[in-house]
Amino acid sequence: MAERPYIVGNWKMHGTRAMLAEARAIDRAAERLIKVEVALAPPFTLIHATRKEATLIGVGAQDCHPADGGAHTGDVSAAMLKDAGAGFVILGHSERRADHGEKDADVRAKADSAIAAGLNVIACVGETEEQRDAGKAESVVAKQLKGSLPEGEGVAAKVTVAYEPVWAIGTGRTPTVEDVGAMHCSIRKVLNEFYGEEAGATIRILYGGSVKPDNAAELLAADEVGGALVGGASLTADSFLGIVVAA
Ligand code: PEP
Repeated sequence: MAERPYIVGNWKMHGTRAMLAEARAIDRAAERLIKVEVALAPPFTLIHATRKEATLIGVGAQDCHPADGGAHTGDVSAAMLKDAGAGFVILGHSERRADHGEKDADVRAKADSAIAAGLNVIACVGETEEQRDAGKAESVVAKQLKGSLPEGEGVAAKVTVAYEPVWAIGTGRTPTVEDVGAMHCSIRKVLNEFYGEEAGATIRILYGGSVKPDNAAELLAADEVGGALVGGASLTADSFLGIVVAA
């Protein structure tokens, strides 16, 4: 595992202000758990309040629009997220790809906009069960990476990759530790080719998909795993901190 694992909670479309108590509890505990980098991505409506309540952990968003501003009803730009207190944005999550038809090129455009606005990016990739069964998992993920990642000088330092097999998200099922390690090594190769060995080697690759306190240590010990992107188990301080402690 990486020297300082990065554990990120994705609250998805969960949370009203009542949930800020969980963010506060996570933030208090983070003060003791300094060997782990902890962050939360609440819904847009809670970013500003979470930033104010939680002063130690990272706070980010779950999506942004690629444009700086304009006539895009219901959308939020990267600059707005930055202004609300976000430090990063999750992009290309499989739920965005499925629910909103996001393609790799959309993810890249959003990533470019996010980086220009001063945000870091967590770029999500992952295969479906059918693609894995067909032996195409690594090629699918490599294609997503090459199509979604932002390009340019110095950009790699702003990027984290999250490998999230679609069939493991919210299902309670996970790949074997060997399969996670094999995929993360394959992702590392693509990153080294894409950004060059020196920059590619520094990018953290998170595993996401049904990470829980009782399987976190095992999954986080797989080759090239630099942390975890956690959905359901990030919704209470108790279970999320169970994962942070396991890291
Ligand atoms: C996610 O959606 O990013 C995720 C990993 O969800 P879960 O942990 O609930 O599988």
